[in-house]
Amino acid sequence: LDQRQHNFSAGPGALPTEVLEEVRAELPVYPGVGASVMEISHRSPAYSEIHERAASRMRGLLGMGDDWHVLFLQGGASMQFHQVPLNFLPDDGSADYIDTGAWSAKAIKEAEIVGAGRNAGPRVAASSRDDDYTYIPGADAWDLNDGAAYLHFTSNNTIYGTQFAAEPEAAAPLVCDASSDFLSRPLDVDRYGLIYAGAQKNIGPAGVTAVLVRDDFLERRHADLPTMLDYGTHAAKIFNTPPVFAVYLVDKVLGWIEANGGLAGMVERNQGKADALYGAIDASDFYRGTVRPDSRSQMNVCFRLPSEELEARFVKEAKGAGLLALKGHRSVGGVRASIYNAIEPASVTALVDFMGRFEAANG
Ligand code: PMP
Repeated sequence: LDQRQHNFSAGPGALPTEVLEEVRAELPVYPGVGASVMEISHRSPAYSEIHERAASRMRGLLGMGDDWHVLFLQGGASMQFHQVPLNFLPDDGSADYIDTGAWSAKAIKEAEIVGAGRNAGPRVAASSRDDDYTYIPGADAWDLNDGAAYLHFTSNNTIYGTQFAAEPEAAAPLVCDASSDFLSRPLDVDRYGLIYAGAQKNIGPAGVTAVLVRDDFLERRHADLPTMLDYGTHAAKIFNTPPVFAVYLVDKVLGWIEANGGLAGMVERNQGKADALYGAIDASDFYRGTVRPDSRSQMNVCFRLPSEELEARFVKEAKGAGLLALKGHRSVGGVRASIYNAIEPASVTALVDFMGRFEAANG
């Protein structure tokens, strides 16, 4: 445990140390079953209990009723880029998309692929591409279609470090890629039809994607879809072998969120970390935030130093000081500190201290 360092990885990201210790205690034998959780049937009572508990914890944390299905699917959030329009893009019509970064753009591309076979397609209702995705477009600039099948948005843009401060106001049901801020704050769930998130940032390891879909929205999907790509298949029952070990870990992380004050607890924790880090950036002329302050992400904090050479040295020396994975995404450069739920406030304090020392030595 002493060898665990401050981990600012953008994903797969850090898991709570307590959760890893619990998992270690349940390897190689899960209590009462004589084998580990990876080695038992996904239809066994022990696994069914884990799966059901994970789903009910997720509904509980978000304040969702029984009309919400919680699915644990594979293929990553990237599969959802295609599966969403495949199920919900009408034969004749459109869905609105807000383009706030590379992941949004990939979702739009998949909707175009699906729409090409129908008389339909995505409509880009707003985009911040014109300024390198450094902001979330203001609602006054959105060109929404009230008749859209849904409005798709990316709540947090992992690469650029921007985040919607609140849900978009729209007549259409919201569909959200919440991969990089899922369960970091409460959601107004009544406004959504579907929410998806790869687990590997805030809620677990890679290998499982949480998909939450409301019953009345699910009813609107196309008929005659390929079985595995039809959300209805998975909403009806556990259809095929789920990624059992990943779901087991998600259940543990959800238990950890509950034990730490639920989503209100996460908001307090995340706000404190983000304030400390942005505060350090704003107090310095050496570090420079890359996004518009009103669009700042509480999950991925991106900043620049006076030169690329200094940035490379910063990332390298930080690593030497036990601060891992601070290099910005390869497409944008700079520095990125990902401070998801599991990142301890003490890790952010260690980073802020390091930033002070580095500036004193190089500023
Ligand atoms: N959406 C967002 C916001 C992401 O950050 C990522 C991954 N970094 C993805 C989608 C793609 O997720 P996956 O690798 O699980 O397909």
